[in-house]
Amino acid sequence: MSQQADQFKKLVSHCKEYGFIYPSSEIYDGLSAVYDYGPYGAELKNNIKTYWWKAMVQMHENIVGLDAAIFMHPLTWKASGHVDAFNDPLIDNKDSKKRYRADQLIEGYLDKIEEKILKEVEKARKRFGDSFDEAMFRQTNPRVLDYQKQYDEVLERFTRATAANDMGELKAIIDHLEIADPDTGSRNWTEVRQFNLMFSTQLGNIAGEESKLYLRPETAQGIFVNFLNVQKTTRQKIPFGIAQIGKAFRNEIVARQFIFRMREFEQMEMQFFLRPGEEMKWYLYWKEARMKWHLALGTPPEKLRFKDHDNLAHYANAAVDIQFEFPFGFKELEGIHSRTDFDLGNHQKLSGKKMQYFDPELNESYVPYVVETSIGCDRMFLALMSHALQEDAAPDAQGEEAIRTVLRLHPALAPVKCAILPLLKNKEELTDKARQVFNELKHAFLCQYDEKDAIGRRYRRQDAIGTPYCITIDFDTLKDGTVTIRERDTMQQERVRIHEVESIVRQKTDMAQLFR
Ligand code: ATP
Repeated sequence: MSQQADQFKKLVSHCKEYGFIYPSSEIYDGLSAVYDYGPYGAELKNNIKTYWWKAMVQMHENIVGLDAAIFMHPLTWKASGHVDAFNDPLIDNKDSKKRYRADQLIEGYLDKIEEKILKEVEKARKRFGDSFDEAMFRQTNPRVLDYQKQYDEVLERFTRATAANDMGELKAIIDHLEIADPDTGSRNWTEVRQFNLMFSTQLGNIAGEESKLYLRPETAQGIFVNFLNVQKTTRQKIPFGIAQIGKAFRNEIVARQFIFRMREFEQMEMQFFLRPGEEMKWYLYWKEARMKWHLALGTPPEKLRFKDHDNLAHYANAAVDIQFEFPFGFKELEGIHSRTDFDLGNHQKLSGKKMQYFDPELNESYVPYVVETSIGCDRMFLALMSHALQEDAAPDAQGEEAIRTVLRLHPALAPVKCAILPLLKNKEELTDKARQVFNELKHAFLCQYDEKDAIGRRYRRQDAIGTPYCITIDFDTLKDGTVTIRERDTMQQERVRIHEVESIVRQKTDMAQLFR
């Protein structure tokens, strides 16, 4: 196993063992690409969301929040293009158990015929030299004519089948052309079926197309349809943004790599509405601002990079990903997209309602352009965990050198901020004092009281969940009101007065430091 694969395996089992992430419905052998967040996972996830929300909403006067419903009017997804463009014709090979897109298999076949024609043309060009007339050759050479006829027939049949959404015909084409699994050569195919990545369900108790609802595949559309509600009720002037955090659902065809690609996940999206023509200025602004947000957490810059999109989506005029170096390589963590007026324009068309903004400075109305930032909360979780989970050398309970597992999360995001540990479990005067300290500090942060096992083991447990500070109550505490405070990363211990603890922990764990 490669070092990265080994590291990834450790990460997955650490997440389970320490109550961060469990497979969904595990007692029934789990549900593919769905996960549950355990007690520490839920805390960390909430902290990630708070950090994002504060950076967007609290730190920008011109960005406001929204919490739209998961269910939306079905026409929303027609306007957004998801009903028509989120479809793939799927086919499985029964022998290899590999899944393919039927359209791509046929296109691959067409490409091969084209290659054969090109080969004939090139051969002839060489043979005839300067006197070669390519058009004449293509019209008269019997072999080329044969290939071309075959190509045209397949293309015509394929185009018709696609336009009619005729999955049976796509399968018939694959059978007729004897297209084989590119990996194994097997022709043992299932039927072709239309695959839309959106999950659907029924509204009320009447089955049928009219009552079909979708579980949103992105949160952005809830923002678009509420654009005027928000603008009017908050009296925002362009440019302004709407931020939202919420669940999204995609029936991913190939879903693996733990929480990197899930069927139910959470997005943190912000749509920034602006004057047409000013999109590049704001696109660059948000590109930089979002990278800063990541770097403020202490993530090494070499683990993050920008990657421009090679193929722009039909609605975008600029798009870039922020990629993170996951244990399985650099992959998309966040997208920044200049979406033009595509979404608002289409909602205007389909709903018949004006989606325009009156710009008092220009004295004119227009459909605003949009730059969006879109990040998956779960992918951010995975990025943080994969960087933070480290091993170092530290003495064990007997003072011997040993390997320590430590989760070096930024203290502002750590699930538990401070652990309160009486030195001994069966000394009531120590446990009473520790409880007293805990009951005081719990008003300020999420603290944990732990009296079980030797102190060294308790430190290790806190290191493994990323707790920045451990406070130990010992016999000196009873005499002089001081405690030992141990810092997670350096493992250094200091003697401080009990009343100083709160400000020491607060200073290190305060989220505000990330914005300054
Ligand atoms: P990918 O190319 O990886 O499928 P995408 O380009 O389809 O992602 P977007 O539609 O731009 O993703 O969604 C925005 C963000 O939502 C992504 O950057 C990612 O962080 C997150 N995301 C998208 N799909 C998933 C998923 N199936 N599981 C977890 N997070 C996801």
